[in-house]
Amino acid sequence: MTSSKLNQFLNENLEDLKSQGLYNEIDPVKGANGPIIHVNGKDLINLSSNNYLGLATDARLKNVAKQAIDSHGVGAGAVRTINGTLDLHLKLEEKLAQFKGTEAAIAYQSGFNCNMAAISAVMDKNDAILSDELNHASIIDGCRLSKAKIIRVNHSDMEDLRQKAKEAVESGLYNKIMIITDGVFSMDGDVAKLPEIVEIAEEFDLMTYVDDAHGSGVLGKGAGTVKHFGLQDKVDFQIGTLSKAIGVVGGYVAGKQNLIDWLKVRSRPFLFSTSLTPADVAASTAAIDLLMESSELQEKLWENSEYLKKGLSALGFDIGHSETPITPCIIGDEKTTQQFSKRLNEEGVYAKSIVFPTVPKGTGRVRNMPTAAHTKDMLDQALAIYEKVGKEMNLI
Ligand code: PMP
Repeated sequence: MTSSKLNQFLNENLEDLKSQGLYNEIDPVKGANGPIIHVNGKDLINLSSNNYLGLATDARLKNVAKQAIDSHGVGAGAVRTINGTLDLHLKLEEKLAQFKGTEAAIAYQSGFNCNMAAISAVMDKNDAILSDELNHASIIDGCRLSKAKIIRVNHSDMEDLRQKAKEAVESGLYNKIMIITDGVFSMDGDVAKLPEIVEIAEEFDLMTYVDDAHGSGVLGKGAGTVKHFGLQDKVDFQIGTLSKAIGVVGGYVAGKQNLIDWLKVRSRPFLFSTSLTPADVAASTAAIDLLMESSELQEKLWENSEYLKKGLSALGFDIGHSETPITPCIIGDEKTTQQFSKRLNEEGVYAKSIVFPTVPKGTGRVRNMPTAAHTKDMLDQALAIYEKVGKEMNLI
């Protein structure tokens, strides 16, 4: 029998979310997550996946994954520290270090658990973390798990960061202090001010931690935001995910050898959760090879995103201040945002609404993620639907 307290808690809170228009309905996708997806019996132009370069369905990677299953099986069989470190994991980590320009790298089962793992392995209750207020949820959770003092910094406000860094150092309260930021902020598409962040870190001798989930494969000729600014030697932790531009699943930290050695003995998901599957690891390694060999897919991604941004702006939509392919269409009110997304969907575009608590109240948006796999024709069709629905709802 279910506990009556649990029932009451669930029913009241679910009702509350639904009445505020904040309950997120899940749309199952039938088949692959490509530029066109099949949802609720219809083919839709997909502007909601993180598959930036179209690699999630790339034929070359599918073949590599199949071969890895044939040679290594479907599962790694154990955690990394028992006997779940296969030759394929080491190959991936070597490749990641090469890709990021660091001494070494360590792979995790997801970007989310990578942040939980890495932050809590290094920081503790005697430390402090200066964390941008728009950092990803997994960074926030990793910071909380570490028990370090979390000092929230106004978004990309370098004056605020400098002031709070100075206060934290001068207070003498903390053993270690770390600055943590997203490389590219996932809801607005703006890029962290890494040169200034690194300067502040050097001034006060602080650690730097950059989660480049949305910059890797996209900026810095593919290598990410840190490379984009030429700061490979100045950032202690380069975090990435294998689930977005790389097209597969997993997360990683790239950095100095001693950092990676420490994470291998102290980061809990590495010690206590079964390692990535052979197919994931082999496909990710092959994807990074593709990225290092050619920038063709990145060029296509940027061309498509410029095209979509120009088109939405010309129609009169507020697309914010993105500096990357992430293209928000800011509507404001939560219910209107959800209604807009629903109407786009009915007309043939899958562009998901993003509302509080993922973004602040009153800044609801439909977030568009163009990819290298979209054709001009698909983008033109999407823009025509945006125009139709935008006019119908008096948004433009
Ligand atoms: N960090 C950031 C900045 C992200 O945007 C995401 C993905 N939403 C993650 C970490 C988590 O990555 P993953 O999906 O691989 O768990």
